[in-house]
Amino acid sequence: MSIHATDPWGDRFTDGERALLAPFVTDLDAPIFGLRNLPEVVKGALFSRYSRSDKSLRRILLDEFIQAPESGFAAIVGGVRATGDDLLGAVRQAEAFYERVLIGYGDDSVAELGGAHLACEGVSNIAAKALEESRIGISPLEKSTRYVVFNRKVDGRYRYLREPEIMASRHAARYEAALDGLFDTYTTLLDPALAFVRARAPRDEATSERAYNSATRAKAFDLLRGLLPMAALTNVGLFGNGRAFEHLLTRLYAAPLAELRTLAESMQTALDALIPSFVKRAKSERGRAHQEYLCSVRKKVATLIEDRGWRMEDSGSSSSATPSPILHPLSSTSEQSEVTLVEYDPDAETKTVSAILYPHTDLPLEAMRALAARLPAEERLAIIRAYVGERGSRFHRPGRAFEEPFYTFDLLADLGAYRDLQRHRTLTQERQRYSVAHGYITPPELAEAGLAAPYEQALERAAEAVEAIGAELPEQAQYGVPLAFRIRWRIKLNLREVYHLAELRSAPQGHPTYRRIAQALYAQVLAVHPALAEGMRFVDLGDYALERIDAERRLDAKLQGRVN
Ligand SMILES: Cc1cc2nc3c(=O)[nH]c(=O)nc-3n(C[C@H](O)[C@H](O)[C@H](O)COP(=O)(O)OP(=O)(O)OC[C@H]3O[C@@H](n4cnc5c(N)ncnc54)[C@H](O)[C@@H]3O)c2cc1C
Repeated sequence: MSIHATDPWGDRFTDGERALLAPFVTDLDAPIFGLRNLPEVVKGALFSRYSRSDKSLRRILLDEFIQAPESGFAAIVGGVRATGDDLLGAVRQAEAFYERVLIGYGDDSVAELGGAHLACEGVSNIAAKALEESRIGISPLEKSTRYVVFNRKVDGRYRYLREPEIMASRHAARYEAALDGLFDTYTTLLDPALAFVRARAPRDEATSERAYNSATRAKAFDLLRGLLPMAALTNVGLFGNGRAFEHLLTRLYAAPLAELRTLAESMQTALDALIPSFVKRAKSERGRAHQEYLCSVRKKVATLIEDRGWRMEDSGSSSSATPSPILHPLSSTSEQSEVTLVEYDPDAETKTVSAILYPHTDLPLEAMRALAARLPAEERLAIIRAYVGERGSRFHRPGRAFEEPFYTFDLLADLGAYRDLQRHRTLTQERQRYSVAHGYITPPELAEAGLAAPYEQALERAAEAVEAIGAELPEQAQYGVPLAFRIRWRIKLNLREVYHLAELRSAPQGHPTYRRIAQALYAQVLAVHPALAEGMRFVDLGDYALERIDAERRLDAKLQGRVN
């Protein structure tokens, strides 16, 4: 038997105590064990006691929860096990107890000790982006525009947000006509787009019908997703901890759009039923002060910009540039390239080399930097190569020394690509307003298929509606912007994240527009820091007619493996 097979603190439990503990721990003796069958608030409170107690966790659970009447343990756990209906009431009854434990024995971070799964259904794409804005503590998953068709009607109406303030305005009919037009066009073009994709890339013997159908449908959906407006309703599942949810709720409560504020209230209701102690501060006096702070800062900066007339570029001029995909410029911004490296550190190599060496020495960082600066270039390259090592796959990522160099990019790409890239969290991203000011793109395949005209007509009708609504309701008009329109956003990321993003997002199965951005990020970093970027061996620079086909073939092989 291993010396760690028994409780390391010498705790001995009676048979009776073991029976009480058994349902809630994965092991009664081992020093490494999991908690189970316990509500989030109990687990959080238990862990928060860790920092202030000499007892083992099992002893705390027994003495201070299971056998402490004031904890409400029996009611809380009983409620969960029975129907779940009693959980909220039971937690409320024992609230004073949990408040004391959570606040008394922890700091703000105790709210990270409990989590919840939350389904947010029928939210707009604007709301989905707001939910996915969190960097730490929230893991989202959203319905895909690539695998799911978005033209379902409920009660004869397409599923998009009829934004209340627009619907109460004189623009209501125009808004509905423009958005219905987008969905009608999406619906009408689906079959011809699919036929075109299939005619251009016929199925070969080696590809199953399942794989082929799935890859070609995905391609057709990708080609048409530009027609979907930001108002299109979708579903987002979130898993997060209490602290991250509290911050998300605070931001949503303070948001300028009514949908987001209503969403915050609905989320609060759901979270109050699961982890009330961890999210209550979002609507407390402290939470309200935080909301007011966020609102006032936003308003002050907006006023400042407005006063100086800095918001918009001149619109109206056009460009002769015709990159692929076809760009329809409505403003002078068409001259900006899709990916612009705005800033990088000329000393990045020295800093990275010193960070690579640092943990292996006992010298101060400044001395390491001076040493690295004195090394000949070949020696620095040898150190970088040793650190990158033999990468067997994109998952073999270089370590934290590669977090030294930072790159600031200005991106100008279609909203569809923005939606996808916004999901990366280990970096700074900030966007401008969703608008029609920067023109839209038409996938070249639609032009080849002879389907560009209806696609563009629908987009242009939507753009006119957005501009008319935007003159009076600029925030709300964003709902009418289709995903084909371009948006400008900045990203600041370290080299390690460049490796991750460029390699993941250039993979053949990715959407062509973000694949192109990933390839450009790689090329631009390679141009300024060749020694640091040469290890990005898994960036795929190829061009593919049917992006998902290899992924579908691999799925076939996996399915086959399961059957055999
Ligand atoms: C081909 C493709 C299809 C996709 N389809 C869908 C889809 O249908 N629906 C959908 O919602 N999304 C989809 N995504 C988006 C995907 O789920 C990720 O959100 C996105 O790719 C960001 O990747 P990431 O989390 O690895 O990157 P980042 O957020 O940049 O994180 C970098 C790395 O840090 C670590 N990390 C970051 N945050 C956490 C955390 N909270 N917990 C643990 N580790 C963390 C991970 O190692 C991660 O790889 C798709 C992506 C691709 C490439």
